[in-house]
Amino acid sequence: MLIKSEASKVRVLVTGGAGYIGSHTCVELLNAGFEIVVVDNLSNSKIEAIRRVERITGRQVPFFLADIGDQAEMRRILESFPVDIVVHFAGLKAVGESCEKPLLYYQNNVTGTLILCEEMDRAEVRKMVFSSSATVYGDPHTVPITEDFPLQATNPYGRTKLFIEEILKDLVAADRLKQADEPWTVTLLRYFNPVGAHQSGTIGEDPNGVPNNLMPYITQVAVGKLAKLRIFGGDYPTRDGTGVRDYIHVVDLARAHVKAVEAQLDQEPGQVFTYNLGTGTGYSVLEVVRAFEAQCGITIPCEIVGRRPGDVAECYADPSLARQELGWQAEKGIGDMVRDAWRWQSRNPEGYPD
Ligand code: NAD
Ligand code: UDP
Repeated sequence: MLIKSEASKVRVLVTGGAGYIGSHTCVELLNAGFEIVVVDNLSNSKIEAIRRVERITGRQVPFFLADIGDQAEMRRILESFPVDIVVHFAGLKAVGESCEKPLLYYQNNVTGTLILCEEMDRAEVRKMVFSSSATVYGDPHTVPITEDFPLQATNPYGRTKLFIEEILKDLVAADRLKQADEPWTVTLLRYFNPVGAHQSGTIGEDPNGVPNNLMPYITQVAVGKLAKLRIFGGDYPTRDGTGVRDYIHVVDLARAHVKAVEAQLDQEPGQVFTYNLGTGTGYSVLEVVRAFEAQCGITIPCEIVGRRPGDVAECYADPSLARQELGWQAEKGIGDMVRDAWRWQSRNPEGYPD
C-alpha cells in the first residue's frame, strides 16, 4: 500500500476530470496525496467543477482544455506534464444519443482512446485505469454478476466500452508477447449505477436537459423542475414489479479509483485487472423513491408507465473481487446516496453556473 508521502511523488492524468465521476475522483486522489492534472474538453461539464474540487481540497488542479482525440495537443500535454498513470473517464455516455449518432460515439470514445493510448505509449506511460460499465454484461442471465460473465453490448455506447476493453487487453497481450521491459498494465472498472454527490453539496451530477437516469430525475422532481417521476415498468419479475439496480455512491466509486491506482503502482506490470464496482445490493425503483421520501421528507409524485426499451429487470454486482484484491468495498448506503444527491440538487438547482 502506498503511503501518502509516496503518493505525492506520483502524478496522475485524469481525462474527463471535470465530469461527474471524474471530479469526485480528483477530490479523493488529492486527499490521498497524489498530484493530478486534468484534461477535459468540457463537452459535458463546466470548469466550475474543477474550481470546486480546488475549494474542497485546498489544492490547485492543473487543467488543460483539450480533446483526448487531439493528438498534437495530447503529445504536448504529456511532454510538458509527465505523468505516471492515467485514469481515463473522458467519453460520451448517453445510450439514446449513441443509437442516434453511433459515429460520434465511436469517434469520441474509441478513436479518442486510441489516440490517448498512442500518446501514452510514446511518452512511456503504460498504466491506465479505465471507466468501463456494467453495460458490458448486456442482459445478464442471472444475478449477482461476476467479472467472468459473458460480455455483450446492446447499444453503440456499450459497444464502445466493450471495444475499448478489448483494445486495452490487446495492448497488454502484445507487450507480453514481446516481453516488453515496461509493459502496459490496465485496470477495467465496471461501474454499476453511480449516484449521490460529495457530502459538501458543492460537486455533483449536472445532466444536460431532462435527466435520463433515475436519481437526478427524482431530485429534479423534488426541487420542482419536473412534475412527476414516470416509473418505467411495474410488471418485472422483481419484489415489487419495478426494475432493480445496484446503486453505488459516487464517493465510494471515486475511492475505488484511488485503490486501483495504488494497486497498479504496487503490482507487477503487464497485467489486466477487471473489477465490478457496486455494493452487491439491488434496490427497486420504488425502494429508491421511498428511501428518498423518508430521508429528505419530500413526496415524489409517481406514475407507473410502460417498460423502457432495452431495460433489464435486475442488475446487481458481486463486488467480492474488488474487496479481495483492492481491499475496497462500498461503505455508503442508500440513505447516504439519496441525502447527498438531494443536498447537491437543493443547493444547486440549476447545476453549475456557466
Ligand atoms: P460525464 O459526462 O460527467 O464525464 C465525462 C467527462 O469527459 C466530461 O467532463 C466531458 O466533458 C469529458 N469528455 C468527453 N469526451 C471527451 C473528449 N473527447 N476529450 C476530453 N474530454 C472529454 O460522465 P461521468 O458520469 O462522469 O462518466 C465518466 C465515465 O464513466 C465515462 O466514460 C462513462 O461512460 C463512464 N460510466 C459512467 C456511468 C454513469 O452512470 N455515470 C456508468 C458507467 C460508466
Ligand atoms: N427509471 C425510471 N424512470 C426514470 C429513469 C429510470 O423508472 O425516469 C428506472 C429504469 O427503468 C431502471 C432504473 O430506474 O429500472 C435505473 O435507471 P437508470 O437510467 O438510472 O440506470 P440504468 O440502469 O438504466 O443505466
